Amino acid sequence: MTNNEQHNQDIDEIKEIAGYLWERGWAERNGGNISLRLKAWDGETRNELIPLKDIPENLANAILYISGTGCRMRDLARAPFKYGAVIKISNDTTGYHFLECGQGEKNVKPTMEIGSHLELQSKMIADNPEYRAVLHTHPIELICLTHHPELSKDPARLRTMLWSTMPESRVFVPRGAEITKYAIPGGAELSKLTGAALHNFDVILWEKHGALGTGRNIVEAFDFIDVANKSATIILKCMAAGYWPEGLSQDNLAEMERILVNKC
Ligand SMILES: [Zn+2]
Repeated sequence: MTNNEQHNQDIDEIKEIAGYLWERGWAERNGGNISLRLKAWDGETRNELIPLKDIPENLANAILYISGTGCRMRDLARAPFKYGAVIKISNDTTGYHFLECGQGEKNVKPTMEIGSHLELQSKMIADNPEYRAVLHTHPIELICLTHHPELSKDPARLRTMLWSTMPESRVFVPRGAEITKYAIPGGAELSKLTGAALHNFDVILWEKHGALGTGRNIVEAFDFIDVANKSATIILKCMAAGYWPEGLSQDNLAEMERILVNKC
């Protein structure tokens, strides 16, 4: 795949996923944000350096697509360069440059969560460089479960419940979901909790707030959250019907793990 084909595919996927987030009701107003490390970008670098503190050193010269501050996913799905930006981290990591996207759009200020995104991107480079995408969104049913007084305090139980609703959940969210205790959105504590959980889990649930997924591309990050949210929906529908879901047994789950996990 040429550089052009790669970044066209990346941007097309961002548009597609942003549209899904809106259609699902996971992206009210300016809810959620996206970043994706691009493998290449042909546009010219704009000279102005936008200073930014605390950029991790291993992001020097990294090129990222990042959603804009206050942008609506439903808008970004139509016009990704009007409601998001392509930036290049400076060589000395003291800030970033905007890259020319070739569509005459003005520079869009990146999401206020840029610090958290860069921290997570840095961890992905260190842990698993194939992972390029960070997606934060507000999936309704998963958020409902983070309000559950018992499950929200018992990450292992919640993870097993999500896995046990259907075999595909165990297979397609192989590392499972983790829940982090409530912390103020955009704050350093939430970023730290998320970074710690990222190493071991596919989906990070933020108590009473939303979810964050990572992946090799934005579609994969979305799929992890989507499958987990399907499981959450099943749990809530069983509860609404008046019974607690029995779920797959430990033996069922162990069998799935042995035969199918990381093989599909
Ligand atoms: Zn949020």
